[in-house]
Amino acid sequence: MENPATLPSPSVERCYACAKEVANADVYCNNCGYPLKGTEWDQKKFIGKQNEVDINLPEFQKRLTHAANSFYYLAGAFIVYGLFYFFIKMDDPGVLSFVLPNFILAIVFLVLGAYSKIKPLACIVSGLCLYIIVLVLNAVGNPASIASGIILKIIIIGYLVKGIKSALEIEKIKKENNIS
Ligand SMILES: [Zn+2]
Repeated sequence: MENPATLPSPSVERCYACAKEVANADVYCNNCGYPLKGTEWDQKKFIGKQNEVDINLPEFQKRLTHAANSFYYLAGAFIVYGLFYFFIKMDDPGVLSFVLPNFILAIVFLVLGAYSKIKPLACIVSGLCLYIIVLVLNAVGNPASIASGIILKIIIIGYLVKGIKSALEIEKIKKENNIS
């Protein structure tokens, strides 16, 4: 919001709330509805309400939680994968090479989940990149792996992309309200 005191031309009347030009006869601002001719109390009430709408904290919190949950679900999925491999490959001497990568990914996604409350966009973008790298490495090592669990993979990628959308909105809300 611009401060009307710093605007270049003092001869033009501007709305206190949105700094759009207003006509002297206007009772309400045509742009934002600010009560130009209202009492001081009306005007303060309007500004207060407008700030509430801008910040919309519950929505902001919901999106942060949603982004973090994406990672916790993924971590859970990798733990399940890891356990699954552990039980079907138990007699294989190379069992750890199947189990460990899944557990490591689970830990990485848990860390991303915890950190995503602070840096949601960076965390989700890293998470998506990491997941795609894992898929590509698996596909190079074993081309048949592309098709296995394809629906689950699409769901996971969809979930992360949705998370990126939420994170972008979070960044927007942060920027608009100067939350760092
Ligand atoms: Zn206005």
